[in-house]
Amino acid sequence: MIRWLLAFALGGALSACASLTDVEEAGSSPAPAIVLKLDDFRADGGVHPGWEEVFRFLEAQDVTATIGVIGEGLEEPRQEAVDWLLVRDARGHELWNHGYCHCRSGEGTAHVREFRGRSLAEQQAAIARTQYLGEQVLGITFSTFGAPYNSTDANTARVLADRDDVRVWMYKDTSEEAAPSRKSPLPRIAAVNIEYPVHIPDFESFRAGYAAHRDEPVLVIQGHPRSWVDDPARMEEFRRIVMFLKAEGARFVKPTEAVREREAASSANDPAAAREAGG
Ligand SMILES: [Zn+2]
Repeated sequence: MIRWLLAFALGGALSACASLTDVEEAGSSPAPAIVLKLDDFRADGGVHPGWEEVFRFLEAQDVTATIGVIGEGLEEPRQEAVDWLLVRDARGHELWNHGYCHCRSGEGTAHVREFRGRSLAEQQAAIARTQYLGEQVLGITFSTFGAPYNSTDANTARVLADRDDVRVWMYKDTSEEAAPSRKSPLPRIAAVNIEYPVHIPDFESFRAGYAAHRDEPVLVIQGHPRSWVDDPARMEEFRRIVMFLKAEGARFVKPTEAVREREAASSANDPAAAREAGG
């Protein structure tokens, strides 16, 4: 009775956001699988308090996440950072290749990013060195790649095509026409993210984007934990996003698991096309 009265009293306020409630009440489709794409771990700087706080929270909530590791930071890593990464790996989080230098240079038309506008050989070296360091320093073969700034070009697709160890490409931003790739893509849906704008988690903006894309099988949402301890409100917004997703019944998965979710969803929708696409 109390719940009914409350619902009645809130009815007027809720009708103002009908699209959100409609989606949430539809209830027919399960919540999407969620990949928490957390960027920019540098092992040469120790363990930043932002990473520590985020993973204390995630592990207390039994939530799986991913850590984008910058290769250059593994050249002369701090031991505590290596140990911290290995514990995260052992606890089921996925470490992935986030490029080597995370660098960019030039202005205007001469503007170049690590994986956009650089030669095939340079891009090959950047990915290969980071893969090598992952194996040498951490004993881990990164099976997922995501470019710094999410900027890539046709050369990036060619480099990845030659590698069997990297199987998943997060946030490929080059069209299939311009840069075809057989790596399993986990696309970016810009409207659904942790940070609005970058570095600033925002629960209400997230929830609006989520409501509009709740029927996707997988949502990959990006953030930068080092920026979240600058202001306690940022960490709190991130916590709200995670707790909301848990209440939705979302499953937090690794990129390789997310690819399987997408394939299962597409074969359920179109069995013939899925067979043709074959693995
Ligand atoms: Zn980055």
